[in-house]
Order: sequence, then C-alpha cells, then structure tokens
Amino acid sequence: MEILERAYAKLNISLDTPFAHADGEQEWDMLMVAIDLADTVTIRTTTAHTNIIVDSTSGLLPLNEKNLAYQAAELMRQRAGVADGVEIHIDKHIPVAAGMGGGSSDAAAVLRGLNKIWQLGLTEAQLAEIGLKIDADVPFCVYSRPARVTGRGEVVDPLTQKFPPLWLVVSKPAVSVSTPKILKMIDYDNLVHGDMGGLMAAVEAGDFKTAFHNMFNVLEPVTASKYPEIIKLKEKMRKFGAEAVQMSGTGPTVFAITDKASRAKRIYNAVRGFVPETYMVRLVN
Ligand code: ATP
Repeated sequence: MEILERAYAKLNISLDTPFAHADGEQEWDMLMVAIDLADTVTIRTTTAHTNIIVDSTSGLLPLNEKNLAYQAAELMRQRAGVADGVEIHIDKHIPVAAGMGGGSSDAAAVLRGLNKIWQLGLTEAQLAEIGLKIDADVPFCVYSRPARVTGRGEVVDPLTQKFPPLWLVVSKPAVSVSTPKILKMIDYDNLVHGDMGGLMAAVEAGDFKTAFHNMFNVLEPVTASKYPEIIKLKEKMRKFGAEAVQMSGTGPTVFAITDKASRAKRIYNAVRGFVPETYMVRLVN
C-alpha cells in the first residue's frame, strides 16, 4: 500500500529553555507553527522484502538508519509488530540543517502514514510519544499546527486561537548549523529570557501585534555569536518593512512576519538577491 504525506517545515515563533535536565537534555518552552514549505513523503509498504529503504531528491541526506524517517519506520514496525518492508521517498524542499525541523517533519510524516496504512488507530499524542525517541521536534511535527510545546518536546498543546492570515518571509543564510553543537554552547547562567507567559496571554487574547513584538529566541545570541550574518539579515528585513523578525530554532534561518502580502513581497525581493534560499510562505493553521 502507498500513501503520500506532506511534511511541513516548522518555525519557532518563540523559543526558551528554562533549564537543563540532570541528563543534559533541555527543558523547552516554545510557541511553534508549521508553514506551507513542505517535503512530500511517499510511504510504501510491501511484503516482497523486510527492509526499510529511503531515497530522496536531495543529495544532502543520509539514506541509512541515520535518516530520521528511517528511524520512524523502524519504531512503527516495532509498535505494530509487523515485519513488512517500508519504502520511503522524500521529495525535499525544506532546507537541510536550517532550524526548520525538516528531518523531524519527515519522521512525523512516516509515523502518520504508517499509522494509516497499518490501521493502528494511534492518537496524535501516542504518535508524539513515539516521535520523541527520534528528536525533540518530532512530537510537534506530528500535529503541525500552532502549539505551545513544553517538556523535552513531548508536551504539545495546540492553540485554541487561530492565527490571523499572515505572510512570512523565511531566509536561510548559506551556513549549516549543527543543532547539537549550538545546544552544547548554552550557558544557562547567562541566557536572557523573554516573557513567555505574557506572549502566550497575548496570543490567547488574539492580540497578535503584541505577541509578535514580544517574541524571542534565547538561542539567537548563541548562534549569532558564531554566525553574525544572522544579525545582518535581520537588519535587512527590518529595513524593508518587516514588523517582527527572528531566528528559528538553533538557526541559521531567520523569518519576518507581516500581515501584508505586498510588504512580504518587498522583503522577499530585497533579501533573495544575497540569500538565495529565501521563501515567501504562509502559516498552516
Ligand atoms: P531541528 O530544527 O529539528 O534541529 P534542522 O532543521 O536544524 O532540525 P534538519 O534539516 O532536520 O535540521 O537536519 C539536521 C541533520 O539531520 C542533517 O544534517 C541531516 O544529515 C540529518 N537528517 C537525517 N534525516 C533527515 C531528513 N529526513 N531530512 C533532513 N535531514 C535529515
């Protein structure tokens, strides 16, 4: 049987890490959204063999058990107690190692797809729990709609409030950032935290202007200390009319939010000349 799943990129509208657990893993507090920049993941099951085979249009991905989509298939086979072969094709559009959760989203697509093919009836919360074994961003990607995410990534609370129609310009400078390396650089004594409670209250009240002016990413100064082009890119986006600008995840992707398509177009045109990996996208609500 074959199924096609869209794997949406994610952005961290806000990102905080209040503390590190004793085992070194981060506690997170994040407001996350999905955007309509997506990979297409085709999942096919077969009884002709018992392998997990991954291929992709991108030459940048590992195609073995290091691929997060492969790991998702392995975990679902264990959960379902089946030994069928799984063939996964990833049509890659999300920039790799960008802070947009591309690998996590591919993995979540495989969890959702195999849940349907094998008619397992697992809830989103159960898929999220399986996904946490792969990466902290997989649980959110199972939902792929605006949510507050806490714990180690496994507590996903989808928002009751819909986001207004928005335009985002998403731009990935030509550097690849290693998430584990940035996480190792965190100095908890010197992190500058924002007001996540206030930001969430504004979102819940539908006051998105206040929310976007209060968004923050505690990891932005950490990554920008190594890659100053992030700050330059933010300045450029602001100069061309972005109301709110920020780095996503561990970077280097920077995004600008605006409610006007014409303004987004202006920012997009201004930026893509020197950052080719720039996209004008919408939020998935
Ligand atoms: P996150 O924000 O979740 O840390 P990211 O956007 O920074 O993720 P990814 O695009 O997920 O980064 O890629 C990080 C690394 O994971 C890459 O260097 C790549 O080798 C590996 N990887 C494994 N599977 C995948 C996949 N299906 N798609 C993209 N990268 C993958």
